[in-house]
Amino acid sequence: MTERRIGLSGPDITDAEIDAVVEVMRSGRLSLGPKLPEFEQAVCEYTGSKYSVAVNSGTSALFLCLKAMGIGPGDEVITTPFTFIASVGVILQAGATPVLVDIDPQQLNMAPSLLENKITSATKAIEPVHALGNPWGVDDVCEIAKSHGLYSIEDSCEALGTVYKGKKSGCFGDAGFYGFYPNKQITTGEGGIMVTDDRALAESCISLRNQGRAPGAGWLSHDRVGYNFRLSDINCALGIVQLARIEEFKTKRKAVARKYTEFLSVDERLTLQPIPDDCDFNWFVYVVRLSESFSAEDRDQLMSMMSESGIGVGNYFPAVHLQPFMRKLGYKRGDFPVTESVSDRTIALPFHNNLPDSDIEFVCGKLLSFLDRL
Ligand SMILES: *Cc1c(COP(=O)(O)O)cnc(C)c1O
Repeated sequence: MTERRIGLSGPDITDAEIDAVVEVMRSGRLSLGPKLPEFEQAVCEYTGSKYSVAVNSGTSALFLCLKAMGIGPGDEVITTPFTFIASVGVILQAGATPVLVDIDPQQLNMAPSLLENKITSATKAIEPVHALGNPWGVDDVCEIAKSHGLYSIEDSCEALGTVYKGKKSGCFGDAGFYGFYPNKQITTGEGGIMVTDDRALAESCISLRNQGRAPGAGWLSHDRVGYNFRLSDINCALGIVQLARIEEFKTKRKAVARKYTEFLSVDERLTLQPIPDDCDFNWFVYVVRLSESFSAEDRDQLMSMMSESGIGVGNYFPAVHLQPFMRKLGYKRGDFPVTESVSDRTIALPFHNNLPDSDIEFVCGKLLSFLDRL
């Protein structure tokens, strides 16, 4: 008997991507060639942003932005514990202090009502995250940032292509970020980008990603301490083709999500991902949440049973404040009860553009029958 294996995610690569990469390889210009500005221009056109700065990961893009904003020791940046670790890690890497705000139980993003209490004289920026690709509430958070004269930096790494209240996610803040790891909506293998309308910010980031070189100055002239966060032309060529296909991807992702929802929405033991009104969602992952009667142990047992059946699953997201290095900073269970309650009971199911209906049916069948056993 051949065992069925269904991966948690997977990229959608065609001959067009392969040909584009091969063309760069044959050109001899593997980095800082024409594909970098072409990719950045395509992202600007797609998002409607004035400037974009492509780098080697979404994490690098967030980190560079903090550095370019002059955020460092003694400064506070407010974000949420219900996110991927990078959102909080970059604040610590910059030497600043992350200040966490619990999530809204419906939106699953930073609760605007809890935010204002966390703003101090040391606060420099607010970093809303589109958890699980959902931008719900980002407009309110950016408004609060603005009214206090603070930067808003929008971690939209999971939400490229989602349109909320008529605006592309990633375009609400002073700067927005997208990630291109292979499980994101589009991939460059590894990569990320910052978008902004702030010219000075973009120019600082361009210099910082390339060893602090001054624009127009020589290769070995550096006017500040920088990094090497460059994205190669090979990656950019892949990104150009992927971005050109984003509407096709969005349609495919919606179809996969619709199929899951058909199978799972009737079961009262499950809560499906919330989507706000006036949101054209470019699905990132398909995450279900077990009802309050289940424990974290139940969820973990369910994940083991799914894995043993060859089904890729993930516990998106474990609460950031309960990660070992955050506990060492003094955080503990009970600090952010909504985040804890949600993250104890979520499970991400296999999700990618080309997931066949028969696989979705198999995954849902297993999920529901394992739930009966808990
Ligand atoms: C993926 C992701 C990032 C950063 O992505 P990398 O490209 O892997 O560095 C940042 N924030 C969130 C919420 C993400 O999901």
